[in-house]
This record gives sequence, C-alpha cells and structure tokens, in this order.
Amino acid sequence: MCGIFGYLGKRKAVPILVEGIKNLEYRGYDSAGMAVASDKGRVISAKAVGPVVYLEKKIKKNRLFNGDLMAGLVHSRWATHGGVTEKNAHPHTDCSKNIWLAHNGIIENYSELKSDLISKGHKFKSQTDTEVIAHLIEEAKKKNSLVLEEAVRVTLKSIKGTYGLVIFDKREPGKLVIARNFSPLVLGLGKDELFVASDATPIAPHTKRLVYLKDGEMAVLKKGGYKIFNLDKKEINRRHLDIDWSYEQAQKGNFPDFTLKEIFEQPIALENSCRGRIDLKNKKTVLGGLAGLENELLKIRRLIIVGSGTAHHAGMLGKIFVEELAGFPVVTDIASEWHYRRPVFQKGDAFLVISQSGETADTLAALRGAKKKKILTLGITNVIGSTLARETNAGVYQHIGPEIGVAATKSFVSQSAILLQMAIFFGKQRGLSDAAAYKILRTFRNLPKLVQKILDKSEDIKAVAEKYKDSRDFLFLGRKYNCPVAYEGALKLKEISYVHAEGLPTGELKHGPIAMIDKDFPSFFIMPKDSVYDKNFSNVQEIKARRGPVLALTTEGNEDLKGLADDVIYVPEVPEILYPFLAVIPLQLFAYFSAVLRGQNVDKPRNLAKSVTVE
Ligand code: GLU
Repeated sequence: MCGIFGYLGKRKAVPILVEGIKNLEYRGYDSAGMAVASDKGRVISAKAVGPVVYLEKKIKKNRLFNGDLMAGLVHSRWATHGGVTEKNAHPHTDCSKNIWLAHNGIIENYSELKSDLISKGHKFKSQTDTEVIAHLIEEAKKKNSLVLEEAVRVTLKSIKGTYGLVIFDKREPGKLVIARNFSPLVLGLGKDELFVASDATPIAPHTKRLVYLKDGEMAVLKKGGYKIFNLDKKEINRRHLDIDWSYEQAQKGNFPDFTLKEIFEQPIALENSCRGRIDLKNKKTVLGGLAGLENELLKIRRLIIVGSGTAHHAGMLGKIFVEELAGFPVVTDIASEWHYRRPVFQKGDAFLVISQSGETADTLAALRGAKKKKILTLGITNVIGSTLARETNAGVYQHIGPEIGVAATKSFVSQSAILLQMAIFFGKQRGLSDAAAYKILRTFRNLPKLVQKILDKSEDIKAVAEKYKDSRDFLFLGRKYNCPVAYEGALKLKEISYVHAEGLPTGELKHGPIAMIDKDFPSFFIMPKDSVYDKNFSNVQEIKARRGPVLALTTEGNEDLKGLADDVIYVPEVPEILYPFLAVIPLQLFAYFSAVLRGQNVDKPRNLAKSVTVE
C-alpha cells in the first residue's frame, strides 16, 4: 500500500522527489527511502524509519544530495513482510548495488525465490519480500547480459504476486523501468521530463497529462520519451488523459490537517457529485456515465453492491435506496468476503463496485470475479482512469478532488449521493412517481447548505467529544437508513481515535450487546424523527434503565430527549431518506475531535494506509 514516486528529467530530482513523496505519505508511513542517480552513474541513497520528515532531515544533512542527480525514486512504506526497520525500508538493491528499486505490493512466492537465490550465493540485507526482485534482476542480467528492461521482464515472469515497481540500474544512466500488476502506477508526461507515481497527486503540480499503466504492463522511461509494453514484449500505444483537479485541491489550506479540511469540504463534495445530474424540472436524475445503457439497466433483476470499509457502508445505504425507490432486490457485501466464497449469480444480476481510489485490491478482486461471469459491472469511484474506472462496463465519477486523510469522510457523502441518484434513476425507469422523486430531489439539492449549517456548529460537537474523551468503548446505534451511518460512525471513531466502537442496528441491542452496558459504556443513538423513531426512543429508555450514558442525534425541534439522553445533537429536518447525509457529519466531527483530544495523528492513524492496494 506504499507510495512510490520516480523522476527522470533535466531538473534536480531530490527536491521534486521529497515534495512528491510527502503527497503520497497517506499511503504508508512506516519508513521512507530514496535513491538518486547522476548521468554518470553515481548513486546516493538514504532511508529512515518513520514519516518522510525523518528522511528529509537526513537528506538535508548530506551535501551529496545537492549534486546533479537528475533521476531517482522514492518510497514510503506500509510494511507487509519484515518489521518496520531501516534495513527493510525501500529502496532495495542487489548484491552489487547497481540495481535500485521501490515496490508496492506483495511477492507471494518470495520465500522459494529467496532460498534459490541464497543457494546461488546472493546475500540478503532485509527481511522483505521485495528484495528478491533486485537479486532476480541481477541474476538475469548476469546470466544473459540483458539490458535492464529485458532483465526486469524476465524477472517478472518468475514472480507471483502484486507490484508497482520503479527500478533503475546505475550502469544504464538516464533510464527508469516501471511495471505494474495490481498495484497502481501512473506516468506523468512533462516537458522534457517524466514522472511516475502511485497516484496522480504528486504529479499534478508538474503536469496534467497522465498515462495509466494496466496490470501486466511495464514501461521504459528515457530522456527522449517512454515506451509501454507487456510481458510478452508487445508494444502498447495509449493516449494520455488530462486530470481535472488542481494541485491546490490537494493542499491543506488553513486547516490543521487534511481530515478536518475534507470534513469541511463536504458541502462542495456533495455539490460536485450532483452537478448537472439533478434535473428538478423533469423530476429525474441524469447520470452521464450510465448513458447508452438504459436498456441493460432496465433488465437488472438484482444488484450486488460490493466495497470495503466506508465504501461498503455507503453500499449498505445504496441497498436501502434502491430497494425503496426502484423496488428490486439488492445484496451488499464486503469485497474480501464476497470474493472468497462461492458467489452465486443469476440471470439479471448486475455488479456495482465502490472505491474512492478505484484501486482497492479486495474490491478489484471481487470485480474481476464478477467479470468472469460476464454480468454487467458498474462502478463508483473518484479517480479518473483508475483500475476500477477502466475495468467496469460503466460508472459514475465522484468528482470530489483528492481525499488525503486516511479516514474516508467526503467520499462517504459523495458515494451515498451517487447511490441515491442511481436509485432515483433506476426508480424512474420502473415507475417511481414524479411526485416521489421531486419530494426527495427538492431537498437533496439543498443538502450542501444543510451540511454547512451542521459544520458551522462544530464547536458544539467538540464540547461533547471533550466530555467523553476518557471513554474506552462506544456503541453506535441506528435503524433503517441510519443503520449504515451507525457503522460508519463507529468505524471513524475506531480508526482515528483508537477507541473501541461497534456499529449496530439498534434492534440488535437486546440480542446480546446490551449485556455490556454499564455507567462507563456510552451509546450513541442516531435517531432523527423518522418512521423508526419510536422504536429507537424505547431503546434509549432501556439503556438509561441500565445507567448507560446516551448521546442522541435527532431532529431540530425534537424536545423528547431532553432530560433523558445525556447529550443531544441536532440536525435539520429533511425527508427521512436524506438523514444519513446529515447524521454522518456530527459523527465524523465527534471522531475527529475525540482523536485530537487524545493527541492522535488524525491524518495518519497508526497501522493504516489510505488506499488498500494489497489483499
Ligand atoms: N511488501 C513490501 C514490503 O513490505 C512492500 C509493501 C508496500 O506495498 O508498502 O516492504
């Protein structure tokens, strides 16, 4: 899940690489390392455990990094094989220290390969799976005197697993070789310079022209240009794409961190995910990404929605939207579970995958399984040209700009908004009345303003978080539309404040979890004034009867909870189907402030990485 960035051009590579890797650090921050080369084949390298700043400090202290080093690579690691140590930090090199590489992914057969290489006399310096690649390339070059790209190609044929790779050999200056299999890699085409990275963010300040590599492809980058080919040497011509967001969007601005910035960007995110898609006059939604597929979409008898983490929670919400508005069955599942069972498909199935990055390995594996069954595949993603976007039959882009904070926030509201628009689209195809569509769309269009109203009162949520800052456990409870929100609220709290939290359908309380309740175990009820409010209200009483603290989120103007719940948070009144869009905001803020008050690194929670590109 690490971040990789490579540069080849006329400028000094070091400052470009340092800036670039900072933008990819959200993908992994166990350690970082860099190797840079001069045109004469001189190589300087450095590694440091911890975030990129430690590497940066080392580099600043070493004058050799100031030289004319016009090519190089840098890596920030999310360890899979081998502990978090300097030795295990990338880049890795071969015995002769000629070949240098950074890797994102897992080499599944590394153990056999390593034993074999050791028996041939290779000396390993790290415990990583990655290092075998450097020695295999060394071996291939030695045996057949191959040029780097050919030695890499031969090596990749012997490897099983996933990789995004950037490699250079100091004996072949002015050349980078890159390769991709299930770990994202994108090439940036500048003027007389080339960039390669795990995603477009670090490339964006330099060029907007991108070429995405596909699985099983590699490329040679030289000063004069680049060439893409597959592992059977077939050359591939691919037109570049132009990215549609600016580098500034990926900067923190005046916010202390990306997570808070992204929480506050949600009004804009909602607007962007709906722009041009809501036709209030004709009481319908218009999704360009699905245009031309109307007949096939009408044939859907069952929709299977698959995602991981927050995207899965959005998918759960999508199920309720579609069943409610379009009236056909929807199943949702966690990608890593769906894929490894024996999924049973039937005629009329369609498969919808959701992933902000479009590179989530579990989700892509599930998608590929569905594609083998030749069913219609749809996608929701934020990243134009991502693997998910390329491999689905059709889909809808989120258009929310880069999401950097590891905890997904704006992507949840955006994905949910797209799912609601899809549900209305499917519904209108199947007889959803104009009046019913209008009732939702009229308020839906105003959600950005309502979300802003909640954000304007973020200090109130901070005060509540302060009160509970010593609690070690939480239940998040919701029914119907707000059940997925409860799951999402619990996930946010877990991932950024490391507080144990469980999301539950409120009705499940009595089937076990209520046994945990005592005066130190708070429950967070998401209970706007909707069709299941009365049931929730009884459940609050049950918790209070057992002395459990209760935080309740409800609709403005509802006075019932005063004196019963310990703390009440209000959101504006909307049609019940729209409450999740509002209810999730205080939950994100609660998790955010809980994390800050506990002194956690909100943007980079421990043990996590933004885009989970390994299974
Ligand atoms: N498997 C490699 C390692 O543990 C790369 C992990 C990554 O993708 O960050 O070093």
